[in-house]
Amino acid sequence: MKPEDLLRPTPEGLYCPPGDFFIDPVRPVERALVTHGHADHARPGNARVMATEETLDIMAIRYGEAFAGERQVARLGETMRIGDVAVSFHPAGHVLGSAQIAVEWQGLRIVASGDYKRRADPTCRGFEPVPCDVFITEATFALPVFRHPDTAAEIGKLLDSLRHFPERAHLVGAYALGKAQRVIRHLREAGYDRPIYIHGALKKLCDYYQSRGIDLGRLEPATVEGGKKGDFAGAVIVGPPSAFADKWARRFPDPVASFASGWMRVRQRARQRGVELPLIVSDHCDWDELTETVDELRPQELWVTHGREEALLRWCELRQMRARPLHLVGYEDEAE
Ligand SMILES: [Zn+2]
Repeated sequence: MKPEDLLRPTPEGLYCPPGDFFIDPVRPVERALVTHGHADHARPGNARVMATEETLDIMAIRYGEAFAGERQVARLGETMRIGDVAVSFHPAGHVLGSAQIAVEWQGLRIVASGDYKRRADPTCRGFEPVPCDVFITEATFALPVFRHPDTAAEIGKLLDSLRHFPERAHLVGAYALGKAQRVIRHLREAGYDRPIYIHGALKKLCDYYQSRGIDLGRLEPATVEGGKKGDFAGAVIVGPPSAFADKWARRFPDPVASFASGWMRVRQRARQRGVELPLIVSDHCDWDELTETVDELRPQELWVTHGREEALLRWCELRQMRARPLHLVGYEDEAE
């Protein structure tokens, strides 16, 4: 038996023939198992969806209650059977509710990790390594140049800027699911206790995080109607990156444009976006986290997907480890 008999790339996504299901399909299918709520992994329109409770909730928040015909909650660490295949979900450390999906059939286990990271994130459960024969890894930041710095130190840069420029509004661009809540939570852990202003696009997800026990402190809407421009002097305003290009952002006093993303490691990207205060905060593994994870798991085979596959494949080759690119389509770098 080949691993491809258990899981194989198709135009719809990773397909499991003996279980007749897809993992993170990019087109509507009969049965989908979903790793996490980011839009390129979790799409509406599937007949049946299995995911963690949080991921199902997040899909309902983003797509409406009718996002799937039928929902099935996957509890972390619990084994379920789909046809002859044993399926289990395990924390991935990426965003709230994110999970790796392990599938096992005829003595072969493949773990599809979805997106993941290894460093501590106060808004979700940490990645748990699952022994396996084949490990499927993302490769978003799979180049040795990507080494994410300490997150607390990056948040410290924002706090420093607030101290130096108390008259300026600080606009922090952060992806609406995961990154925004993580930046807010890190600010709270660093002792920042003033209200934090959020763009309307973040409200439902921030409310949901708070309802799951992740304390984001006092959040206020970042609306200026009825107020004066000066009201936001020295304030922290968090919004999705897309909002910072439109009129909304120009209402704030002499704003400091900040952006929290793993891509801020690339100075040119920060410059192109007009980011004055880049914060390197990533929800994906950097090079060291990726290679350390592969070293820890020591799978017989590594499958590499979405991102910069080549360097990781070469790294495996040098260690005489079997590895292949998956060439799945439809997964973006997201606004990470
Ligand atoms: Zn993701």
